[in-house]
Amino acid sequence: MHHARSHSMSSKIAVVTGASRGLGKNTALKLAAQGVDVILTYHSNLAEAQALVAEITQAGRRAAALQLDVGLSATFDAFAAQVRHELSRQWQRENFDFLVNNAGIGIHAAFADTTEEQFDQLMNIQLKGPYFLTQKLLPLMADHGRIVNVSSGLTRFSLPGYSAYAAMKGGIEVLTRYMAKELGSRGIAVNVVAPGAIATDFGGGAVRDNAELNRFVASNTALGRAGQADDIGGAIAALFLDSNRWVNAQRIEISGGMFL
Ligand code: NAP
Repeated sequence: MHHARSHSMSSKIAVVTGASRGLGKNTALKLAAQGVDVILTYHSNLAEAQALVAEITQAGRRAAALQLDVGLSATFDAFAAQVRHELSRQWQRENFDFLVNNAGIGIHAAFADTTEEQFDQLMNIQLKGPYFLTQKLLPLMADHGRIVNVSSGLTRFSLPGYSAYAAMKGGIEVLTRYMAKELGSRGIAVNVVAPGAIATDFGGGAVRDNAELNRFVASNTALGRAGQADDIGGAIAALFLDSNRWVNAQRIEISGGMFL
């Protein structure tokens, strides 16, 4: 039987969380351009997720979109079942190869003013979410697969207003090393990327829309401007190339050289 996409039977499959916008979307597009099929998740933005599936499909790869709230760990068993169903339906496979834990939000609040509710929301979405989502998806991951977690430049340098957010991101950097240690026996490599300030919707779009903040970022970045989503996705996707197979348990900053 002639099938236009029979070659994709052998392609790798990535799950990218929070891929309806921003860094996740750009990562999904760069993975697709690299020949990787994508199961992407969205939180509320179904239309954007569907548009991205269409764009990836147009480019000749397979893609699917699933709804996920990474802050609700009680839903992860059901989400894993959906991933399993989608793998079987679209790929006739029982597992996927790559995971990008990208979905997340930012909350800007001074240490003195941060509420327990804000702290808990950041913990659930930025730390507990990736921890248990990865745990629940592990049985669906192929041996010799790879995981990339997303941290932030704010774990290396400190800016007022990010104490809770950056503490969670610091947690995911430590977690990355532990994942690498324990999953190495299955040949799974785990790295963490730390983007600098990037002009996305993140944090109310502040880096993009607040001219003063944008100038502040640019003047503290060796390459002289704030980052764009398109500066990030390709760097994340490159960590899944076979040529990067020996890179493991590393924090890789993608910031154009912020606060050197
Ligand atoms: P963004 O443009 O605001 O996009 C956020 C993405 O995450 C969207 O796809 C959104 O889905 C999804 N999302 C939001 N809340 C979610 C939840 N509770 N459960 C599941 N998905 C959720 O943000 P971004 O700039 O791409 O940020 C992506 C990651 O990079 C985050 O982990 C962030 O902390 C990190 N980061 C960002 C920057 C930066 O300056 N932008 C810097 C360093 C690190 P919907 O579209 O459906 O709402």
